[in-house]
Amino acid sequence: MLGNDFVYLDHAATTPLDERALEAMLPYLGGDMTLRGNPSSLHASGASAREAIEEARARVARLIGAEPEEVVFTSGGTESDNMGVLGLAAASPEKRHIVVSSIEHPAVRNAASYLEAQGYEVTKVGVSSDGIVDPSGFAEALRPETALAAVMWANNEVGAVQPIEELAEVCREQDIPFHVDAVQAAGRLPVDVSRVPVSTLALSSHKFYGPQGIGALYARRGVRLNPILFGGGQERGLRSGTQNVAGIAGFGAAASLATDELSERSLHDETLRDALISGATAIPGVRLNGHPAKRLSNNVHLSVEGVEAESLVLYLDALGYAVGSGSACASGTAGHKASPVLLAMGQGEREAFSAVRVTVGKDTKSADVDGFIDAFNSAVTRLRELSPLYSN
Ligand code: PLP
Repeated sequence: MLGNDFVYLDHAATTPLDERALEAMLPYLGGDMTLRGNPSSLHASGASAREAIEEARARVARLIGAEPEEVVFTSGGTESDNMGVLGLAAASPEKRHIVVSSIEHPAVRNAASYLEAQGYEVTKVGVSSDGIVDPSGFAEALRPETALAAVMWANNEVGAVQPIEELAEVCREQDIPFHVDAVQAAGRLPVDVSRVPVSTLALSSHKFYGPQGIGALYARRGVRLNPILFGGGQERGLRSGTQNVAGIAGFGAAASLATDELSERSLHDETLRDALISGATAIPGVRLNGHPAKRLSNNVHLSVEGVEAESLVLYLDALGYAVGSGSACASGTAGHKASPVLLAMGQGEREAFSAVRVTVGKDTKSADVDGFIDAFNSAVTRLRELSPLYSN
């Protein structure tokens, strides 16, 4: 149901495209070939596309404190994570061990499983019950033969923000390449690679009001990284394929806006997030998942006793509220499985099936939150009445 009464509260899954990012894309979507030649072509039309790419590269670099030449454009977060994990591993073929956290997005988790199937040993580092990776457990997992370690900056499900600076320092001291998935963190909290010694870092434009299908991998100068795509040698040979110029221009504009509006946006989101948390957890049997303070500014992740998450999501949808169940990146595509993130946090299967994720964004209004709390309250009450398993 899309209309005036529709309230979108699933910004961790994707965000609306900012009008200003759309405007930056339009010249490269139309038929004007003076602007949008192949960026590898020598003529002026190619140079125009190249110029747009380089301007966007500088903007994306500024968002994360990088040098423009350290930014490689990709098709999004998934490709960037694959390139970080597989590309770092391939660059040190003599090392056959990798370390990942147990709460990684499937883009990292499944890349690690792929390496495992190729004969790598994979150590998964656990998390606390509020979703934070333990730095000493992480340090103990590293070995001289570790090809790379990967931990996400902030978790996409429960919003837990990880001690990335500390983990990156440990890796730097031992000279182990460190890949960080910053897809949920970038644009929501300060991500500064000039201060935090990561080796590679994944970004995705559609998580901060840019277009979908475009992202970047930050690759620190001097880091040994192999490509995972082979072709014409674009993007310094690291990512062959004609660039998505319109997507890159939109990504650059969104990155620039995210840099300039970061504190304003996070303050706005935090206020609404906290109102949502106190309204929702006032309902008996509703509990917040993820660290209460070390969490993304826009994330509310709730376990609702006696209610099955998918029914709740569909009920809320019928009332005009779009929220996520478990991980929206996986649900709907990966079948009905308990979230590995919640299981890693020590929850049981049943609890894990009762979790919903509500994520606000820069255009969410205080009235949307008030309306949501009412809708949530009536949905939970009604579904509990229908549940043969619930009694209070
Ligand atoms: N990593 C995290 C933490 C995410 O939340 C997502 C979301 O989809 C991805 C990676 C994948 O990004 P993309 O959708 O751009 O492929």
